[in-house]
Amino acid sequence: VFNHLARAPEDPILGVTVAFNKDPSPSKLNLGVGAYRTEEGKPLVLNVVRQAEKLLVNDSSRNKEYIPIVGLADFNKLSAKLILGANSPAIQENRVTTVQCLSGTGSLRVGAEFLARHYHQRTVYITQPTWGNHPKVFALAGLSVKTYRYYDPATRGLNFQGLLEDLGSAPSGAIVLLHACAHNPTGVDPTPAQWEQIRQLIRSKGLLPFFDSAYQGFASGSLDRDAEPVRMFVADGGECLVAQSYAKNMGLYGERVGALSIVCKTADVASRVESQLKLVIRPMYSSPPIHGASIVATILKDRSMYHQWTIELKEMAERIISMRQQLFNALKSRGTPGDWSHIIKQIGMFTFTGLNSKQVAFMTKEFHIYMTSDGRISMAGLSSRTVPHLADAIHAAVTR
Ligand code: PMP
Repeated sequence: VFNHLARAPEDPILGVTVAFNKDPSPSKLNLGVGAYRTEEGKPLVLNVVRQAEKLLVNDSSRNKEYIPIVGLADFNKLSAKLILGANSPAIQENRVTTVQCLSGTGSLRVGAEFLARHYHQRTVYITQPTWGNHPKVFALAGLSVKTYRYYDPATRGLNFQGLLEDLGSAPSGAIVLLHACAHNPTGVDPTPAQWEQIRQLIRSKGLLPFFDSAYQGFASGSLDRDAEPVRMFVADGGECLVAQSYAKNMGLYGERVGALSIVCKTADVASRVESQLKLVIRPMYSSPPIHGASIVATILKDRSMYHQWTIELKEMAERIISMRQQLFNALKSRGTPGDWSHIIKQIGMFTFTGLNSKQVAFMTKEFHIYMTSDGRISMAGLSSRTVPHLADAIHAAVTR
């Protein structure tokens, strides 16, 4: 009965790893997938996560019962506090409803399904370009997806004028997806002053902001600083949605831990919103998994573990920032033509190199370096040992 099916294409991001795995070359380098690697090129489990897991395993009072549809209560409270700030009036006034979801993607999807059912505007604006999964998540939820200008290839920076024009002409009430920090794939974020202008525009037009926060703490090394844009919007008393992921900042990729918060105008609305979120979640996956959220809650509620987490998080962020500097220096010392300062100006896990798909294909074929065809490289996949190889490849690609 499935004989008519055509083979579906590989996911453009995960497909990079499939191709990488097939390559027998010992010098191969995977800069496609956005997962942190140590200087030795190994995946990292944070010490504080191991410590929390030990506590959980040794606690014989814990069981594996189903948790509520909305997830662990502690986890939800602590997650809202982490992104909105410990003293957030919205939390104190019980205007925020938070549900534990399957990492960032699941949080976006639950938010999108909720909006498709209950929000009057069915159009969502996403940045051009954006993370490849965004348009699919929103389109499959039944929303109409439009783009707003964001990246300027000429400056390899923000097209702020284009952004203001496009959001300025969006229909009233439209949903606007915003990357809270460390924009994927470009690594280009608005300045605080630009965020303020974006906020004013969004509020004056009655647009609905939906933040995707996949890199809190991972961009600058500071959890508070990376949450600033979200807090700026919540501080004005208006509504917004926030999808959080613990994949990168706690290294819990495969545990699928995340949260969706919806900030409402009143506590009463927030509680009705939560009741409707349950109706979205129940037929989708019934209730979320227990283990990852227990790890997060254990760390967030213990002062000393929280502190240890911030140290380990900062180490990851700083290693990435140092990779940016090393790659920039390596290209400079090779005299590679072009201005490569965007490598040190961009922020977060990725550099949007500006290399085109032909140059990317050349680097894969000749140097066994794997990345998405848009020229995005994961800085977290680099190390001091592999920077020279990458710099040689970029140099060869742009001078051939
Ligand atoms: N949003 C963005 C912008 C991302 O880069 C990612 C991870 N690549 C996610 C959301 C979600 O990731 P996850 O579902 O693994 O938390």
